[in-house]
Amino acid sequence: MFTTTNSFWNLPMDKQRAAVFLDRDGIINADTSILEHPDRICLTPEGIDALRNLGRRYLLFVFARPDFSGKRIAPREVAYINLALDKLLRNSGVDILEWCVCPRALKDQRGCIDSDPFFLKQTAEKYGFNLKRSFIISINPQDFPATEALGIFSLFLLSGPSVTHLGNLPDDRLVFHSLEHAASWIGKHPIPMVDMDRALTDGACSIKAGGLVAFPTETVYGLGADAFNHLAVARIFEVKKRPLHNPLIVHIADIAQLEQLVDEVSPVALRLINRYWPGPLSLVFRKKSAVPDIVTAGQPTVAVRMPAHPMASELIRRSKTPIAAPSANAFGRTSATSAQHVLDQLQNVCDVLIDGGACRIGVESTVVTVTGTKPILLRPGAIPIEDMETTADTSILRKYMLPMENNPESPGMMNTHYQTATPIHIVEDCLPFAGRTDIGFLLFGQTGDTFAGPTRNLSHTSDLKEAAVNLYLAMRELDALGLKAIVSKLLPETGIGYAINDRLRKASFKPDGFDSQKD
Ligand code: AMP
Ligand code: MG
Repeated sequence: MFTTTNSFWNLPMDKQRAAVFLDRDGIINADTSILEHPDRICLTPEGIDALRNLGRRYLLFVFARPDFSGKRIAPREVAYINLALDKLLRNSGVDILEWCVCPRALKDQRGCIDSDPFFLKQTAEKYGFNLKRSFIISINPQDFPATEALGIFSLFLLSGPSVTHLGNLPDDRLVFHSLEHAASWIGKHPIPMVDMDRALTDGACSIKAGGLVAFPTETVYGLGADAFNHLAVARIFEVKKRPLHNPLIVHIADIAQLEQLVDEVSPVALRLINRYWPGPLSLVFRKKSAVPDIVTAGQPTVAVRMPAHPMASELIRRSKTPIAAPSANAFGRTSATSAQHVLDQLQNVCDVLIDGGACRIGVESTVVTVTGTKPILLRPGAIPIEDMETTADTSILRKYMLPMENNPESPGMMNTHYQTATPIHIVEDCLPFAGRTDIGFLLFGQTGDTFAGPTRNLSHTSDLKEAAVNLYLAMRELDALGLKAIVSKLLPETGIGYAINDRLRKASFKPDGFDSQKD
């Protein structure tokens, strides 16, 4: 094992108990490409703060992943880059105990942890810490089987192209938008399995007692109440300031709960259920009379979804009741894709907030009505429409683009929605505004252009799934900067691009002209 070692002797005793292992490229270094030269070091102040916080309670180890896709970097050069990084971090008060590179990984061109978990045990023995109280923050799910076999808790970072690994990451692994969020989650869940279990039990007790619980789903965070408790559901409308004509989606954990809500499931609905549940699809059925009118805004129909997020389904299971939940944000505003986002808008209104990291999809569920002979798409989401048509074995009417007044099937589908306080404008081209420092830019794909104002790139590699994951985070971050406006182009209209553009159009919709500002 080739390592650069710092002094262990000055560590306080309490820091010797557990460790955090971190990927170097994409986590310590904000750039996800492999670091080939010290000139390319890219540390962010937020990342440094997060490391400093983690370093107060944990031993920190960094591993470089020498997967050079054809290129080779000699161990000596890797050590040289690591020394440069180490010096910068130490000057900022961050002490990395070891910088690890496995020579076998260099030879095999594979990441060192998955090819050599032995090094973790060796490190734990050397420093006398408990692997079962330790964490790994990585952008590569290949690491997790080996680390988890040793009892290390894994956190996956949605950092740039790492989103493409999501397909290989089991649903029950937590994901985070950034190192800061992952570090803060570790701070609140030092014994993760016990801490998460307690949060779910507290949440279920609260639901049963008529409380409101904010919880993660794979799409966005929800603010939930017992769907059969009128008063609890009424409180959701009150705290969100949501108009009573805007119905809620009822979340279930199994098919038995669907039977509590609806009498009839058509063959088309059944095909969609079999293919997409649990998942990001809400289906609108004719409701049973037992479903309270306040949930459905007086409609004879009810929207039902079975979320795939394991914390959401466990919450519903433990609550022993379907949970009615809109997105956990103030009415008309940007949805929440992390627990912090929920707090930003709904502090003091949820009785329990279950922090399950970031949402893997990032935009709200697809909504399809299955009450008539033809399914009708009311809201686009992550599932490609063509895919649903193949599954349903019929065409699906696209009604989500109609203005609300011509769209009686879609109560609550507002033209203005998902809005930031800073007005968003959709433009053909961002470049004419590039010189403005008072405008923020939502970008997509490689852009060689320079902008005077702040930018957020939804995906440098033009990956629409990554753009969806980052959309609301980017909108909220730009919104917090006190800018005059945010400008964005529309994204390609394919796959989840329909959903992203639908949100961008509604976020930018100005009922009374270009300059109006919704608060
Ligand atoms: P939200 O929970 O904020 O993501 O919004 C849920 C949306 O689902 C509502 O705004 C409605 O547009 C739609 N929805 C919920 N229930 C029904 C229903 N019974 N019929 C048609 N659309 C519905
Ligand atoms: Mg909503």
